Amino acid sequence: MIRNPIKWPNGARCAVAVTFDMDADSLVHIAQRDRAPDLVTATSMLRYGPEVAIPRILETYRKLDVKQTFFVPAWCAETHPGAVQSMVDQGHEIALHSYIHESSFDFTRDEEHYWLCRARASLEKIGGTQVRGWRAPMYSFSRNTAELLVREGFVYDSSLMEDDQPYVIRAGGGELIEIPAHWGMDDYPQYAHTPELGYSVPVKTPSDAIANYREEFEAHYAHGGVWMTIWHPFLTGRLGRWHAIEKLLLEIREKDVWFATLGEIAAHVRQCIDAGEHSPRIVELPYRTEPVSLHRKTD
Ligand SMILES: [Zn+2]
Repeated sequence: MIRNPIKWPNGARCAVAVTFDMDADSLVHIAQRDRAPDLVTATSMLRYGPEVAIPRILETYRKLDVKQTFFVPAWCAETHPGAVQSMVDQGHEIALHSYIHESSFDFTRDEEHYWLCRARASLEKIGGTQVRGWRAPMYSFSRNTAELLVREGFVYDSSLMEDDQPYVIRAGGGELIEIPAHWGMDDYPQYAHTPELGYSVPVKTPSDAIANYREEFEAHYAHGGVWMTIWHPFLTGRLGRWHAIEKLLLEIREKDVWFATLGEIAAHVRQCIDAGEHSPRIVELPYRTEPVSLHRKTD
């Protein structure tokens, strides 16, 4: 079902990447800047991520003996440096997720460029490691984003949705490896219920969410894609949910899969392309630089 599937290391049937976006309390300042000091409950719900969920998730990763990728807004790293330090100390990858979860759609190209560079410098300083990957907050990938990522030497993006396996983005005279996401593997549709921030979905049980993720896994295992989660510590890291997820991950760990960071997946794909072992799909961005005219052509 996947045309031209990528061959994974050691003959693994699919790649597995449990990625988290540690948005923490950045969300309250972006959604409700002036009211944020009064939104104590919403802030506490978001702080659960770095304070309680991250240590829990890292403990599971130690049990599984895997290294994974965390996307972090730089402001969150500045506000919760201990959480980021513990990720780095345990050998996980940190990648960039904006400065304070701002939307790229609100920026001119120059503003987007400024905040990309400022955020990356801050995250690299706190983490003490080079940042190679980007995921746009709420998938706000603008017409300028690909070119700016190429210009700044990013290796991969993980915000777009045009395939089931990595492909190549061409923009601004260079290339990125795209490791695609999709809403079916994001935990917002499962769990994001917080009226103060404007999210109101019927909260699923952990077993309903697991059924969804498991069926997605079965397809990737059968056809050779990347089973990649887009999860949030304040949502999926809560006790009942993570209790169920840890069991699922321990089960997956026993299968013929390759657990990897997105940096490792991007490097593997690039190596396969350079060695002539894989011909990727190539997508030129931006798709459009101007809106489509809705005016009817008149004769
Ligand atoms: Zn986010």
